[in-house]
Amino acid sequence: MKRIGLIGGMSWESSIEYERIINEEVRRRLGGTHSADLVIRSFNFAIIEQLQEAGDWATAGDLLASAARDLEQCGAQLLVLCTNTMHRLAPEITSAVTIPLLHIADATGIHVQRAGLGTVGLLGTKYTMEAEFYAGRLIKQHNLDIRTPAEAERNEVHRIIYDELVRGVINDDSRQRYIDIVNTLVAHGAQGIIAGCTEIELLLGADDVPVPYFPTTRLHATAAVDLALASGS
Ligand code: GLU
Repeated sequence: MKRIGLIGGMSWESSIEYERIINEEVRRRLGGTHSADLVIRSFNFAIIEQLQEAGDWATAGDLLASAARDLEQCGAQLLVLCTNTMHRLAPEITSAVTIPLLHIADATGIHVQRAGLGTVGLLGTKYTMEAEFYAGRLIKQHNLDIRTPAEAERNEVHRIIYDELVRGVINDDSRQRYIDIVNTLVAHGAQGIIAGCTEIELLLGADDVPVPYFPTTRLHATAAVDLALASGS
């Protein structure tokens, strides 16, 4: 079994889900007392949030690259960055290490393709919904057509992530707001919904969504176990 390096804390509310899902999957597959071989670097999210707001992606990139190097030195054989948004800095991470980074958009895109869907709605932070690094990868590498909410709705999705979900606040009104936004995306042609922020699945489950649902934390964590247990590991 390969040692997985988790770059987390963005936020820890979802990082602990990664740790739980990865360990549960290893136990399910190997049985007995087996659990995952992990090294974890958990950031203070307040610092990351500040850098995001200031648009200081260069400093954030240095922090993530240095964390990746530390994890490699601790024996990690593959890296998992436990946030969609910070995959904006995936190139900075991969160029800092010799071990692979399992990209969250690939772990997700493969499942959307397998489900036979071509057009999917994307929910996430404004950085994820509006910048090229995420939707662009789904479009170019996974042949998907991506629909995002209108601007006012994007603001609302983003606000609920930063004001509530990363702070551990799960609110029924916000869930209903997300459901309304999902329904609008579906009415505009989305055949599936990507929960493209690792905290969204804490609020919104598959039962809340009328089309196939792609929760990135679960898909990414499970793909990490696939890699860690691949033959030859
Ligand atoms: N965890 C979130 C994501 O998946 C948002 C927090 C962050 O900015 O990293 O995008």
